[in-house]
This record gives sequence, structure tokens and C-alpha cells, in this order.
Amino acid sequence: MAAFLFRPVPMIETLSTQALGLVAPWQVDRDLTPEAGRIDFQVKFGAASHACPACGAPAQPLHDRLARSWRHLDFFEYEARLHAEVPRVACAGCGR
Ligand SMILES: [Zn+2]
Repeated sequence: MAAFLFRPVPMIETLSTQALGLVAPWQVDRDLTPEAGRIDFQVKFGAASHACPACGAPAQPLHDRLARSWRHLDFFEYEARLHAEVPRVACAGCGR
């Protein structure tokens, strides 16, 4: 008999990730503060490597992460902000 592993994903988590146009290994957590009319999305990169954005070399190790924040279009009545630690690679291919 086959065994299946099933991990249900909360619908709001899937909705947030899809609404922001992100796919794995990007992950999105939300902090909703109704009294402030604000929603903050914490965007996380859940991998230790990434393709080099300069030359395209695959699976380059991350050099560091740069903390950034952006104002997003409102989500319904909530002022929305994105926060992310943007991964930067140390490319063995092109040295950038
Ligand atoms: Zn490169």
C-alpha cells in the first residue's frame, strides 16, 4: 500500500505568494495590523544558492543578503509593504 505525505498549505499563504508573483524557494509571511490599517509581507529566500543574475551560472553560493523594504499597492483597505533580505551571489563563473 502506498503512503502519501500531505502537508496542507494555508490558503492565505498560497494566495499571498501567488499575488506577489513568487515561486519556491521564495516564501511569504504576513503581519496584519488591522488597527494600523497595515499589512507587512516578509519575503524570504529559502535556499543557499541562486543562479548568477549577471552570467546565468546556475547554483552559485549566496555571498550575503541585503535588507530592503518597498511600498506596495494596497491590499484591499490595507497599506501594504514588502520586506526582504535580497540574496546576492558570489559567482565563480564571472566573478561578480
Ligand atoms: Zn556570474
